[in-house]
Parts: sequence; C-alpha cells; structure tokens
Amino acid sequence: MKTPVLRVALAVPLPKFFDYLPPRGPAACRPGQRVLVPFGRGTRIGVVVECLDRSEIPVENLKRVAGVLDPEPLLDAAHLDFLRWSAAYYHHPAGEVVCAALPARLRKEKKPLAFRERLWHLCADPEQACAQTRRAPRQRRVVELLSSSPQRALPREALNALGGDVGGALRALAGKGLIEQTEPRPVSPARLDGVAVPELHEEQRAAVEAVAGALGRFAPFLLEGVTGSGKTEVYLRLARRVLARGDSVMVLVPEISLTPQLQRRFAERFGAQVALLHSALGAGERERAWQRVRLGEARVVLGTRSCVLYPVDRLGLVIVDEEHDTSFKQQEGFRYSARDLAVIRAQRAGCPVLLGSATPSLETLHNARGGRYHWLRLRQRAGGAKAPSIELLDIRDQPLRSGLSQPLLRELERTLARGEQGMVFINRRGYAPVLACYSCGWVSDCPRCDARQTVHRRAGLLWCHHCGSQRRIPRHCPECGSAELNPLGQGTEQLEQRLSEQFPGVPLIRVDRDATARKGSLDRLLARVRAAEAALLVGTQMLAKGHHFPRVTLVGVVDADGGLFSADFRAPERLAQLLVQVAGRAGRGERPGRVLIQTRYPEHPLMQVLVREGYDAFAGMALAERREAAYPPFTHQALLRAEAGDAEAPLALLRDLVEALGETGPVSLWGPVPAPMARRVGRYRAHLLLQSERRAELHRVLDRLGDLLPGLPGVRRVRWSLDVDPVDSY
Ligand code: ADP
Ligand code: ZN
Ligand code: ZN
Repeated sequence: MKTPVLRVALAVPLPKFFDYLPPRGPAACRPGQRVLVPFGRGTRIGVVVECLDRSEIPVENLKRVAGVLDPEPLLDAAHLDFLRWSAAYYHHPAGEVVCAALPARLRKEKKPLAFRERLWHLCADPEQACAQTRRAPRQRRVVELLSSSPQRALPREALNALGGDVGGALRALAGKGLIEQTEPRPVSPARLDGVAVPELHEEQRAAVEAVAGALGRFAPFLLEGVTGSGKTEVYLRLARRVLARGDSVMVLVPEISLTPQLQRRFAERFGAQVALLHSALGAGERERAWQRVRLGEARVVLGTRSCVLYPVDRLGLVIVDEEHDTSFKQQEGFRYSARDLAVIRAQRAGCPVLLGSATPSLETLHNARGGRYHWLRLRQRAGGAKAPSIELLDIRDQPLRSGLSQPLLRELERTLARGEQGMVFINRRGYAPVLACYSCGWVSDCPRCDARQTVHRRAGLLWCHHCGSQRRIPRHCPECGSAELNPLGQGTEQLEQRLSEQFPGVPLIRVDRDATARKGSLDRLLARVRAAEAALLVGTQMLAKGHHFPRVTLVGVVDADGGLFSADFRAPERLAQLLVQVAGRAGRGERPGRVLIQTRYPEHPLMQVLVREGYDAFAGMALAERREAAYPPFTHQALLRAEAGDAEAPLALLRDLVEALGETGPVSLWGPVPAPMARRVGRYRAHLLLQSERRAELHRVLDRLGDLLPGLPGVRRVRWSLDVDPVDSY
C-alpha cells in the first residue's frame, strides 16, 4: 500500500535521513521546507529532502511530522542535490551537510526573522552634510561612504566596515536630520555607472572579457596576478556584468582578508546589493543576510568558507579570492574544501568560476597547466607600482640578536631614516617557543600534548598553542631548582622588544593573534600604521594577507628555513606562498619595495628558483617533485584519524580496519601510524592514509570503510573522522 512519507535531514552524526509521516491536515510539504519532528525524547528541526510514496520502514513504526515551519521551501531541489553530492564526496553524514546550508539560527529557532533590512539613506545634500560633520570624523566618513554609494543608501552591515562606534555616529546624523532609515529598493544596474572606477589596464580587460564571455555556462578560470595587480578590480567589473544579467555573484574570501578596505570597495560599487557573510556577524544579522541572498535582494555575496553551502538566487558567477589559502578547508566536523566545492557548485549552476591568487595552489596550477582551467594572468602591478626585489640574506656567519642579523637591522635603519616603513615577519607569536634549563635540560613540555609551551613574557605565562594549557613562568627550574632558565628561539613579542630597544622613539606595531584578540583592534592598529611616517611592523602571517601598506618599502623575513626541511610534503609550497605574499606587502606606493629573507641555506634549490625565477618556476619544480613522489595532485588522498585516551586503542582499531578491508586494489594504505603529534589535548592519535591515482577507486574503498568501521569491536572507545583531500597531516 502506498503511504506518503517525508524524508527528513537532521543535523545528527548518522549517515542517513529519517522518514516521517506528513503532518495531518491539508498542509502540503515540499523538499526544502523545514519541519519540526519528534526525535529521541525531544523534537528537532530538520529539512525535508524528499517526498516519497512509500518507506522501507513499516508504517506503524513511523512517527508524524509535528509541524511545517516554512510556508515555502528554503532550499530548492538542485541545491539539495548539490548538498547531498557534497556529503557523499566527503563521506560525511548528509543530514549535517544539508543543515549546514541554513544559518545557525534557523537550525534552532522555529520562526524566521523578518529579514527586510532597512537602509540608511543620505537625505541631505552631500556637501551640506560634509560641512555639518566637519568636527566629527566618524560621522563624516559615514556621510562620505553613503554619498559615494549607489542611491546614497547602505545597510548597517556595510557601514560597520568603518569600524568603531558606527551606531553612535548614525544616531547623531539622524538627530541632525542628515540621514534616515528607508526600506530597501532594488538597485538598477544602470545606476552603478555613476561610481568612479579606474580605467582597466590591458591584462585586466582581457581577463574580464574572457570570464564575461563565459557567463551562462560552466567554465573554470585561474586568475594569477601578483598582489596589487588589480585582481579585485577584475572581480568588481565582473560582478557588475553579472548583475546586469539579473544574476548573482558569490565572492569567497579567507576570513582574515575580509578587511574593511575590501568591504568598502564592494559597498561603494554595489551599495545595498552587497550581503556580507562572515563569522563575526551576530546570528540575526547572519540570518537576514542569508535570506537576502537566497531571495536575490542582495546579488553580490561577499563571504567566507561556509558561504559556498548557502542558497543563492540565480547564481551567475563564483569567485574564490586567495584560492590557495588553507582556511578554505574546514578542519573539523564536515571537512570540506570551499574552493573545491565552489568549482562543483559552478559546474552544477552552469556558470563560470574564477579562482584568483598571486600564488595559486599546486592543485589549481596543475589544472591550469593541463588545460583544464583557463589561465588568465596579470603580470604587472596596477597603477604603475613596481614589483619588489627579493633577496636572500646568508646568515651562516652572522651573529644574530633575537634572530635579527646586522645587515637586516642596518637596512631597517636606512629605511626609517628615509621616512619609510619596515616590516619584520616571523611565523610565531609569543616571546619564544621554548623555555629551557641549561643545568639539567628541562624544557617547557605541555602536560597534555607532544609539544612545548610557548613563553609569553608579557602575560607571564607558559602557554601551549595546541591545547591552550597555561602556567605561570617559573622562576626556578621545576626539575633542579636552578635559576638559569632561558627562552630558546624567537617569537613576535621578542622581536618587538628587541626592535623597540634598537629604534627608540619609532612607532612600532605588533600584529598577531595576541595583539589583535579584541574585536576591531586590528583595524585600529592598521590605521595607526597608515597614518604614520617612519614606523615598524612586526607580525605573523596575519600581516601577509589582505592588507595594503603603501609606505612599507622593506620587509625582513626572519625564519624562513623551517619550511625547507619539514616532514609535511606541502611545506615548501606553503613557504613559497608565504614569502611571495609577504613580498606583496612591500612597495605598493610609488617607491619600490625590497624583501630580505634571512636563511642558512641560500643554495637550497627551492630558495634559488623562487628568488631568481619567481613563483611559477618554483611551482613547476615542486610539481615535478610531487609527480616523482606520487603525491597530490597526481594522486588522491584520504586521511582516517582516530584518537582515544590510551595509546593502543586507536592503533588497534585502525589495524583491525585494515584487516577487515582486505584487498584494496589500486588504493594504497599507509599505516596505521601514530600521528605526527601523537598526543594532543591529552589524547593519543593515530592515522591511516589512503592514496590512489584513481579517485573513483579511492571512494569505493572509503564507502566500504564507512560500512565496516562502525561495526568493529574497538570502535566504541575511539573517536574517528575521515578527511577527504586533507591539506594537513596533523
Ligand atoms: P589585487 O586584488 O590584485 O591585490 P587590487 O584590485 O586591490 O589588486 O588593486 C591594487 C590597487 O590598484 C588598488 O588600490 C586599486 O584601486 C588599484 N587599481 C586596480 N586596477 C587599476 C587600474 N586599472 N588603474 C589604476 N589603479 C588600479
Ligand atoms: Zn633544571
Ligand atoms: Zn598542549
């Protein structure tokens, strides 16, 4: 007998959907609608994925949907299909993946918010408004931003890009009658022509035309261009072309590069058409932005990783900026790559996808070299800025002070004397990575990890960067009582101290996660740098991304060598990307920049090729090495991680699994082995790596693995996770 049944996705870690009887009464229910269903002892919110006319489960065992929450589907059939495909590819529970397409609030709250966001509208004449805000800089900037945007109106989230107390400024301006709140109106593309835009240079024009020529069908592009070559300008132009067709554009950026500068550029061009989606938004703001994108009220979506899972009305172009950035890979739970899913998404939407970077990932370059991606290049910097020169600084015979060599200090001094800015880069925060006793050999081991606690001198703490464990810096050695405790190595804090001693009176700013923990403090620090003349910046990779420092003309890289000899086969790629990105921070104004890389291995082939011939030559060499060693992108990998409170259980489980899998044909199994950091947060960890030249074969084995693993006797004591296309082997 036929009985209508609803198949529902729930955010639970089980690899299946759940069948329910439709609600009583006439309420029709379609895929993509949210429903409230009984589950376990309570109720949950789920998403209908299919309406069937029978279930494998006997009708008498089926429970009934308790309520339908949305009058219309939130996700359409094609999008549900994309989500199910993604779940299958990453071998992750499909219910969790489907629910990840909703903003967090709609996963918990039954009732959606009224999403119509009101706009702040400049109702006075811009000149008059400027005159009336002469003594209030923030109000003045609000007025400027509003007057430069289409229709002189912006949503609050776009104005937040100004930083600081925007709410106060808005209240004051409204009090003066200069601005008022209005309902949003769709922006007609023609109106956007009023915004001042630079004339495109030849390569930019070619890139825009190539992608614009592919609108309406799937086509993947790589846009390779050094920092400052005008990639963002290309995105902005393309977005305008997409809007003119009545379609939407999705721009994915790494969290850290979603800077106020970038937000402002989009807000200026597209005003209320822009929706921002990033992790700093409150739940309500996020839900509203999500709805505007879904319904096409905002047709320019600027967001981070998770955005790729969200529904977009009439998706016409997908852009992934800084596509090489590893933050596009989610490292826990649903371990997807937003970059890779962006390509699949575009393919299914039948639209082009543009991957942009100054330092493309080897995976993407491999696709471009093989002709699978169209390869667009911007070789020059826009606006005539010169490319920086990169030099190696041999420090083998150099005495170092806090890691800094004399030649580097001398060059910094000259730079400052010219009224320019210098930047010193080290990829480690804190004062020093280890505290050690010279008498007995004690070191600051973390009690819970196979790692050292870092010295944070200003906070007076030893602090593990892996698990967060802390203790006060001891005065005496905990082992032998000696008072001779020494920090080994350097971090940002130490460089900051050293440089402030060396250059007293020079403004010095440290940029790392400790210095910028409070919301908005990074923007304040950066504003200080931009306002200053001679100044020094010290920082971690936070400095290498997204920001423009026009006055920086010298960049010193203190600790490049670690990446040359790492056990991780991706380390050289990461190092090269970092060095080129750091170099991109120098000399963006009129004056050319210089980059000095301190190294003990100036003859290392990687360093040589990178410095003499540039990133592409390096990438060619690195790809040849990968091919030789049968590493990705020439093979495909999946990493099975297992962890437990004792050391033996994870290894035993993985051994049992290998035995149960038996013959795996063209799929090689490496391990099980203890993870590179075998103990972390007090738990023991083991790995099994699966690798094959043939992706389909690998996925067949992963399917079998997913079936076998939950049935193995040791599985209850072990937490495990599968990582398809892993980007690190942690
Ligand atoms: P990227 O994204 O590659 O780092 P941007 O698009 O941010 O480059 O451009 C760098 C700077 O050059 C920006 O200040 C931008 O406004 C400017 N710019 C971009 N294209 C042009 C152009 N064609 N003419 C003049 N200036 C440009
Ligand atoms: Zn000691
Ligand atoms: Zn730890």
